[in-house]
Amino acid sequence: MPDARDRPTRLADVLLRDGDDCTWCRRPFTGQVTPTTDHLVPKLKGGPSWQENEVASCRRCNRERGHTSPADWLAECDRRGWQPDRARVTDLLESLSRAIADRGGQRRARPYLAAQLRRLTNTTGGCPSGPFESG
Ligand SMILES: [Zn+2]
Repeated sequence: MPDARDRPTRLADVLLRDGDDCTWCRRPFTGQVTPTTDHLVPKLKGGPSWQENEVASCRRCNRERGHTSPADWLAECDRRGWQPDRARVTDLLESLSRAIADRGGQRRARPYLAAQLRRLTNTTGGCPSGPFESG
């Protein structure tokens, strides 16, 4: 199902929804920090180009994340001492899950998405706020 909106419009829509900062490193989009849309469920894993599957990401994070899963990349952000917007990611994955239930299809993305949501909403593995290391 192709998305009729062109790329700049999709980016503008995502920025309106998510705000003017990178979901992962939280740097504001100004000057050298270029906004892009990043697929939560990677295209490689069958992720659709729907707004529910796209988050605002700076170009650096988008490139460095590559095909890393959202849960793994959030863990990597934590390791780097960033404060990624975990709630934004979890909310979007939940709305993507609902969108897939409504619209059907996306057979490849479904199990991937379900596994990601289990990881992100299961807090038995540690304190949800996590240890914070400055610097
Ligand atoms: Zn970033």
